[in-house]
Amino acid sequence: MHFPIHGGILQRRVGEVKAVDNVSFTIKKGETLGLVGESGCGKSTTGRVIMRLYEPTEGSIIFDGQDITKIKGDRLRQMRQNFQMVFQDPYSSLNPRMNVNAIIAEPLQVNTQGSQAEIRERVAELIQVVGLPQEAGLKHPHEFSGGQRQRIAIARALSLNPKLIVLDEAVSALDVSIQAQIINLLDDLRHEFGLAYLFISHNLSVVKHVSNKVGVMYLGRLVEIAPKSQLYSTPLHPYTQSLLSAAPEANRKARRERIVLTGEVPNPAKPPSGCAFHTRCPKAMDQCQGVRPELKEVMPQQFVACHLY
Ligand code: SF4
Repeated sequence: MHFPIHGGILQRRVGEVKAVDNVSFTIKKGETLGLVGESGCGKSTTGRVIMRLYEPTEGSIIFDGQDITKIKGDRLRQMRQNFQMVFQDPYSSLNPRMNVNAIIAEPLQVNTQGSQAEIRERVAELIQVVGLPQEAGLKHPHEFSGGQRQRIAIARALSLNPKLIVLDEAVSALDVSIQAQIINLLDDLRHEFGLAYLFISHNLSVVKHVSNKVGVMYLGRLVEIAPKSQLYSTPLHPYTQSLLSAAPEANRKARRERIVLTGEVPNPAKPPSGCAFHTRCPKAMDQCQGVRPELKEVMPQQFVACHLY
């Protein structure tokens, strides 16, 4: 996903930002892929491209065996029922003038032929599924706490029985105890409905709790992707190692020596040559400046883009 940069008096195209470049992964039914990285690394853009909120510059998105990269109109609308998104701030994604019943009913009214009675029944069921009391249906978003509002957003996302939910920093704005409740709820729903999640977060500790597989992004590219247990026990990419060394770890044995990265995150419009991480990498070698490392399988199922391997 490349975005044009315009400049000059005529606002001509003077460059582009490769917000997501050469990123490839699969998510199976019932699986959660955690996508982590610093702000601006392209993880949210990846989620939005999958949701078809952006037209990708190149590449393909295959959903349930169908290439959905270019579909439009009614086909896209129908296909969209299969994938939903939950954002960080439910307050801005929930219409403040509607009550909860109406908010959850809206996708059903737009996309299904259900009678009013059937829709009412489904809304009541969803309110119960996400652990809210039935009387919540008559209230408005401002009458709820952050965690409760996220439950409403999840109920709305579930209304059309999606197969994939993209959760973009969905618990980041919540207190730690509420985060745990929402993560447990998401996990229960995943088991109950066989959902697949793309869980986008800057917080490695949170991603550890929810994911089966974790991908680490840096400046628009995947630098490492592996099953969760492998990535957390033997991180191979120096960037993954530094992120993990900075993540709080309750288990004393698992605590790592802190690797402090020097330098700022480079401008995505002018990424460094070769390995984009070489300006901050404590293990950089001569070749890192000139040659970009490709993602390759270094250990079974553990893919890493680094010249050390
Ligand atoms: Fe560091 Fe070089 Fe590996 Fe990039 S390729 S992460 S600069 S060692």
